[in-house]
Amino acid sequence: MADLEYAFTIDTSSIKYGPGVTREVGYEMDRMGAQRVAVITDPGLADGEPVSVVLESLRAEGIDAVLFDGVRVEPTDVSFKEAARFATDGGFDAYVAVGGGSTMDTAKAADLYATHPADFLAYVNAPVGEGRPVPGPLKPLIAIPTTSGTGSETTGVAIFDLLELGAKTGIAHRALRPVMGLVDPDNTRTLPKMVTACSGLDVLSHGLESFTALPFDRRAAPESPGLRPSYQGSNPISDVWAVRAIEMVAQNIVQAVHDPEDDEARSRMLLAATFAGIGFGNAGVHLPHGMSYPVSGMVREFVPEHYPSGHALVPHGMSVILNAPAVFRFTAPTSPERHLEAARLMGVDVSSAGPEDAGDLLADAVIDIIKQIDIPNGLSAVGYTPDDVDDLVAGTLPQHRVTKLSPRPVDEPDLRRLFLDSMTLW
Ligand SMILES: [Zn+2]
Repeated sequence: MADLEYAFTIDTSSIKYGPGVTREVGYEMDRMGAQRVAVITDPGLADGEPVSVVLESLRAEGIDAVLFDGVRVEPTDVSFKEAARFATDGGFDAYVAVGGGSTMDTAKAADLYATHPADFLAYVNAPVGEGRPVPGPLKPLIAIPTTSGTGSETTGVAIFDLLELGAKTGIAHRALRPVMGLVDPDNTRTLPKMVTACSGLDVLSHGLESFTALPFDRRAAPESPGLRPSYQGSNPISDVWAVRAIEMVAQNIVQAVHDPEDDEARSRMLLAATFAGIGFGNAGVHLPHGMSYPVSGMVREFVPEHYPSGHALVPHGMSVILNAPAVFRFTAPTSPERHLEAARLMGVDVSSAGPEDAGDLLADAVIDIIKQIDIPNGLSAVGYTPDDVDDLVAGTLPQHRVTKLSPRPVDEPDLRRLFLDSMTLW
């Protein structure tokens, strides 16, 4: 048997947090010596306040700022390549991403392929792509999140739909991590209700998954330090961030969804997203994310309420959380004390609970929240039937990067059962 891992690392972006901090982007870029900056965003945000603040702030420092507003919400290999072409042709020395996870991930990919040109699949996670390590640093990227979800401002991961596979995959390397996240609660003031709900549930799942992931010292050791993955399994430092993120989401998500005027709840959700991002950016996520990729990739007709995209999609956070209750019932026997602790952090009284109750208590705590914020009742409510389970399993199996971090090994029959258990939640 291979030697077990003996070390873990914690890498993160610098974070600057506060209402109005977006306008400091010009100062930060100037400090880094940038002269020509690509500002990457999606069409829905191109005319909005955060983008105009960014452009003004850069131009006030005498920096040449060029806008790219072609980001696709839930990006694909095609939309990544389009952004990479823009980046390659533009001759930029730095990047700013203004938007949600889709935008930040697109900016990472654009920077990567413009800085270290290669065939598209070269850097894509194996076994889908070649999983080649990024050969060196990228140009500096400052990420400015406008949803409180992905935590992408802190991670070295870029996720996209590979169209020919009909499933999500990604590029993961610490070189992709933004040098700085400007985390500004003013930028999440006008989020539609369902966007707040789904992105908040993504944060919750980041916290829960990184806290319950396979411990780092039960993974096989890498052959050399350069091959140590950025998703390393749960570890004592990522736990600190995960625990606090779980608590903050549980205490604020319902209020933030139903009352967008509540500055306090909204600010705490944004901070929770960053906390969770620092945790899972190093520990990783596991089955709820692994199973979510085909759920969002194979969508047929489901169009969520208040989503601006106009195309059928199961939002990332929704596709993750619908699988979470079944997964935690399945993984609880491997570490009942962690699953009970997670339920306790979500406000459940676990004082008289035994190890055998851990899975149900955590699953019920998740379901209790999603019922309160009008999330559909299971995979059947977003268009899937038991006939789709074979395809959903086939789309999950290649997601090694995350499924390998499940604290309990999974095989095909296990995944079938988990998808069937996720069809209806209550
Ligand atoms: Zn996520």
